[in-house]
Amino acid sequence: MNNLKAKGLGQKRIQILAENGIENTLELIKFFPNSHYNSEPIPLENAVEGLSGVFRAKVTSEPYVRYVKKGLNIKHFYIECALSNTKAQIIYYNQPYTAKNIVVGREYLFFGTIKISKSITILNPIIDDAQNPEYCKGIISVYKKIQGIPSAVMTEAIHNALDNVEIESVLSEDIRSKYNLMPLDKAYYALHKPLDIERISIAERTAAIEELVNIITVFSYIKDNKPLREPYSAARDCLNKIIKKLPYKLTNGQLAALDDIINDLKSNRAMNRLIQGDVGSGKTIVAFLAMYFAVCSGKQAALLAPTEILASQHYNGLTKLFPTLKIELATSTSLKNREQKVKQISVADIVVGTHSLFEPDISFERLSLIVTDEQQRFGVAQRNKLQTKGANADILLLSATPIPRTMSLVLYGDLDLSIIKEKPLGRKEIITRYVPKEKVKDMYNYLYEQAKKGVQSYIVVSKLEGEEPDDRSVIHLYNKLKKSILGEVGVGFVYGKMSGADKKHAMDNFKKGIHKILVCTTVIEVGVDVPAANIMVILDADRYGLAQLHQLRGRVGRGEEQGYCFVLSENSSLSCKERLDYFIKNTDGFLLAEYDLETRGAGEFLGVRQHGAAGIFNNLRLEKDWIVDAKNICNELDSKTKVKILRNFEPKYKDILKNVTLN
Ligand code: ADP
Ligand code: MG
Repeated sequence: MNNLKAKGLGQKRIQILAENGIENTLELIKFFPNSHYNSEPIPLENAVEGLSGVFRAKVTSEPYVRYVKKGLNIKHFYIECALSNTKAQIIYYNQPYTAKNIVVGREYLFFGTIKISKSITILNPIIDDAQNPEYCKGIISVYKKIQGIPSAVMTEAIHNALDNVEIESVLSEDIRSKYNLMPLDKAYYALHKPLDIERISIAERTAAIEELVNIITVFSYIKDNKPLREPYSAARDCLNKIIKKLPYKLTNGQLAALDDIINDLKSNRAMNRLIQGDVGSGKTIVAFLAMYFAVCSGKQAALLAPTEILASQHYNGLTKLFPTLKIELATSTSLKNREQKVKQISVADIVVGTHSLFEPDISFERLSLIVTDEQQRFGVAQRNKLQTKGANADILLLSATPIPRTMSLVLYGDLDLSIIKEKPLGRKEIITRYVPKEKVKDMYNYLYEQAKKGVQSYIVVSKLEGEEPDDRSVIHLYNKLKKSILGEVGVGFVYGKMSGADKKHAMDNFKKGIHKILVCTTVIEVGVDVPAANIMVILDADRYGLAQLHQLRGRVGRGEEQGYCFVLSENSSLSCKERLDYFIKNTDGFLLAEYDLETRGAGEFLGVRQHGAAGIFNNLRLEKDWIVDAKNICNELDSKTKVKILRNFEPKYKDILKNVTLN
């Protein structure tokens, strides 16, 4: 009953949906529209770039299909607006059968988005009869595009499924009325086939809260029922000699987090803990000590890092701190001599690595503690992946992305949290400034003057290795700066897709001070530690969340010297200015995250991967208040309801956050 056959979907499309996380009708109807449009036609003469809506026009030329190359054909015809004589063209890529019965001279409705190049173009619109529209009437629900499934097919399949699935709420009538929720089935209809715009927002709230209640219930169950295992055998004292050796005193926050961890490890249930601490709060040493404690208990520990740069930095740190332990590095570069390496890894005390650690031939004799650094980088669900390498392993996650408390409930509700609030003593606040366009030149001169004094700078650009001839791409800016006076002090560059060896080379040159300036993408965001780098320049700062900007800023000012952060932006809107202003004036990561949540909403806060589609975080809006309501509802659930939720959702626990990453 629950499968997707007989919903107007062929085998190939069913397959595509499955790849997008939609495997049955229930998941299909949980693929919510991400926007709604009024179908009132917009006159073509009002067309501006990017405008979406319904346009009414007469077809003026016979459609023809051009085969450009294998796998690409273009269907093409012209339309004209009856009243204004405004002309436009309609183009379909790879949809030769669309509009096959179209009649020249007749009027149609076109639902799509305007692109303006030489002429007005509507790409891949949905066509509908102007006299008797099937789709372009009332309020149109628009779904996120899934490659390979035409919008009209998707809409029809969803509508079809909607009529055939029983939508059942786990919440009682009493709770619904207490929290102003509508009946769940009505909410689904109001989202997919809305009759009036007003009801959409209460429908969103209803559907979201229902999902949140499920997630929070499952997570808190998981949290309270971690698997049993033998307690770790070492005594806390084994850490003393290492702690004494450190060139600094651990902060209270670090000590408290360490105590939480040791308590977990000495208990009879597996640990599942997240340490949240601002950039520079010193999470690394806490994790190192935890791993040492595992080794002292006769176990193996693994440390997973999101980048090769960070993995080798940790490897160096660990070998220095624990010269007597067997420590191995597992990255694509270090695994060149694979067979032998794999053997060494399986018996090492501590293994540090990147995604390479997930590879099937990497195994461990007695892996027991798994630490993931910068876990926000891995996607929320991936946190469990390494666990398959060690039975009931203890999990320690480190994150520098401060998450507002309410969001933690949804994202980390299954974890215990330790929060490190304070920074090590003597750290100066970083000075943050906005650099207006006319001052950019002065800023570069300042970087030059500072570089001559030995102070190094990062310059973060928003574009990847794009070839666009503007200052926003790494290579272009690098070439430009190399030719400027900055060339004298050494300019390097690094970005994500460079080979591991090239990246390492670039970072080494920067660490050694051969290059005083490093042009980079956000690859440097995570964890990298270069003490002489004290200036952080962020171009297009408006493109990032405040929490992310804060992470970037945290790369500098890590030693005794004063750190500076310069933010640039070409976006002159008021809201952007306000956001950057808030960032400039506040240095508490949790405050910044909270601000992001309030102003941009949870959806903006979470990065939902494009390839994923189904599930709560896809397309449903998520407001802070809704999370609070859901939490309160969870506290009011009777045990029968809880059991029901667990039966439905607990098996899917690991899938729940499959496509969620943090921005
Ligand atoms: P993060 O929490 O961002 O991962 P790190 O662990 O990289 O921060 O620590 C940042 C820097 O602070 C490192 O150079 C580390 O050696 C240093 N550090 C860590 N703890 C302390 C402390 N208690 N006192 C002084 N410096 C410290
Ligand atoms: Mg770190």
